[in-house]
Amino acid sequence: MPETTAQSCEFRAEVRKVLSILTNSLYTNREIFLRELISNASDALDKLRFRSNRGETPRHDDLPMEIRIHLDKDARTLTVEDTGLGMTAAELAENLGTIAKSGTEAFRAQLAAEEAKADGEKADAANIIGRFGVGFYSVFMVADRVDVTSRPAFGDDDSAATWTSDGLGTYTVAPAGDDAPQRGTRIVAHLKEDAAEFLEKFRVESVIRKHSAFVPFPVLVDGEQVNTQPALWREPRSSVTKEQYDAFYQALTYDSKAPLDVLHISVDAPVQFNALLYIPDVRQDLFGLDRDFWGLDLYASRVLIQHRNKELIPDWLAFLKGVVDTEDLPLNISRETLQENVVLRKINQTIIKQTLGHLEKMAAQDAAKYAAFWRLHGRIFKLAYQDFANRERIAGLLRFNTSALDDGEALSSLDDYIARAPEGQKTFWYVSAPNREAARLSPHLERFTRKGIEVLFLYEPVDEFVMEGMGKYKDWEFKAIENAADDALDAFADKADSEKPAAAPLSDDDSASFDKLLERIKEILGQRVADVRVSHRLADSPAVLVSPDGMTSSMEKLMRAMQKDDSLPVKVLEVNRDHALLRSLLKMFKADPQDKTLAGMVENLFDACMLQEGYLRDAQMLAGRSSHLLEQAAAWYVEVKKL
Ligand code: ADP
Ligand code: MG
Repeated sequence: MPETTAQSCEFRAEVRKVLSILTNSLYTNREIFLRELISNASDALDKLRFRSNRGETPRHDDLPMEIRIHLDKDARTLTVEDTGLGMTAAELAENLGTIAKSGTEAFRAQLAAEEAKADGEKADAANIIGRFGVGFYSVFMVADRVDVTSRPAFGDDDSAATWTSDGLGTYTVAPAGDDAPQRGTRIVAHLKEDAAEFLEKFRVESVIRKHSAFVPFPVLVDGEQVNTQPALWREPRSSVTKEQYDAFYQALTYDSKAPLDVLHISVDAPVQFNALLYIPDVRQDLFGLDRDFWGLDLYASRVLIQHRNKELIPDWLAFLKGVVDTEDLPLNISRETLQENVVLRKINQTIIKQTLGHLEKMAAQDAAKYAAFWRLHGRIFKLAYQDFANRERIAGLLRFNTSALDDGEALSSLDDYIARAPEGQKTFWYVSAPNREAARLSPHLERFTRKGIEVLFLYEPVDEFVMEGMGKYKDWEFKAIENAADDALDAFADKADSEKPAAAPLSDDDSASFDKLLERIKEILGQRVADVRVSHRLADSPAVLVSPDGMTSSMEKLMRAMQKDDSLPVKVLEVNRDHALLRSLLKMFKADPQDKTLAGMVENLFDACMLQEGYLRDAQMLAGRSSHLLEQAAAWYVEVKKL
């Protein structure tokens, strides 16, 4: 290469970081660099075929579409060459000198997770590389110099260029020599001392069989084709083994675990398509770093049209991985017109129906597997509450932890809930809380427990939207226990074993005094409460806060967070007239309405309620008042007991 015309450039900072991780850390599975080079070659061939189908003619139209690998022991080089799209000199610099920012971040997060998992051992490269647009750089795990020579398949400029780097700080791009490929890209990896295994044909072939078996173009090693796998999704279901299904999934997703389940669909009407859809056995962070990593690979008559097409499935099936191949799309379709496409919409609707059917069958036949599915993907699936047309089927597939179950892991369907409910119940009751312990402590739950009425426990913010969106299921309403009317449970008898001696009813006189006590409490708390009244929902707690407008406290918190409102909500304080504390306060009030201790206790009671709602600001005040009350209580105890 003529030095004079070589242009030396620095890698962008994020590339340098990725490179230094790849070259300086030790990984198991370094062999996956080959998977990455082959996948890039395959992508380049796909892109060329895609453009040819749209009517463009590539340079040297007669060249075979294939990937050739050449091993040279004397030169210690491994070469991967494709006849695909190719790159201009500018594209070489652009594509191999930068990484999308989002890719780098996701890569580093995944890397940290892998390293934590490896716990001081070598992290597994296969899990880290390839998903984040950093695949090419993995070649520097095995090579100390890489030359990429490329000639674009389309465009007026038919000159070839060579990109060279040692994977440290810089790379050069220069015009290529006479031996440049006629079309496409040749990558020469000068292997490191410790990477000589990749000069052995049997070794390289086994890596290709393991990681690149499903590449849809011939892969040849020193002239011999290695991959022979068919397009699995077009095979009849009965002829495909579990091993083949699993291998295809792993090739597609780079997941090291076998999938939880697979759905193989062949449909002729209303639209023809074959699909291979997998439910992964790992949770994806689709609300975080993996936000865009969903969609299905779309093929038209075996030709890849688009990776991660998002028209084929709704977002609530975003956990699905796989391939859709249809003959009802023209090969020359442009990616822009894929949106709003009728064929894709029909496929989308069919996939929804088939997936729901599949999940229903799984739930009926293998509850443990369905529970595993729910724990991994329930969070995404729940978003289906927006799908009005399929609402009833979707509701049937929802799962909840509930007050009637033994522990926080157990799950129940709405149908099971209905089956357990007493005669006459027509409402799914629910409460939102961060976890089971908090849900069980909710004062609103007490009368439900006393009546033995089961309550759904909702642990995620989205759950309340789901409840509201669902509206009804099998003519049963969804309702928050906070919003239960005073007489909502009157029709249900107390459970025999929960019967506690009821407090003696108040005399008319005391009843009137209690109303005055309520006024006094309101006076003490002032602007901090909207009202103070007698509660009909409490059994064991002395008091509870409720929203005057019927919004649940969790929804209210969500709204406040969204509106960045950090003022304290003004709520209604409901007190339990039958509670021993309130009865004592009543006596204190009757003796002296202005009693200081009474005022202090009311303040504390209110703070405890705010604390329970997650709104306590001034913990210092509460602590100070508490210790003062304790001091008094201890002194009285000593006096009464004559200690
Ligand atoms: P990704 O494949 O996820 O985009 P890579 O790091 O593997 O990330 O590759 C970076 C880019 O370099 C590719 O997107 C592509 O534009 C380009 N590239 C790499 N290999 C080839 C090739 N063999 N032919 C054409 N372009 C390639
Ligand atoms: Mg790649």
